Amino acid sequence: MKSVWYCTECEARITSEEIDQHEEDGHHVRGQIQPDRLLGNDPHNVTVLTQDELDNKGGE
Ligand SMILES: [Zn+2]
Repeated sequence: MKSVWYCTECEARITSEEIDQHEEDGHHVRGQIQPDRLLGNDPHNVTVLTQDELDNKGGE
């Protein structure tokens, strides 16, 4: 499973290492988890969370 990160401020894909830099600048970073195997192409299997949401959820 891999994650793709996208900064909506820069309108560019970023790497996981760049997330903190963008968020420190107040940018809105979105993460999209892409399973290695497609799970029936169900959009509900794709989770989109900001890093803040991930932090608030404690990884749940
Ligand atoms: Zn940015």
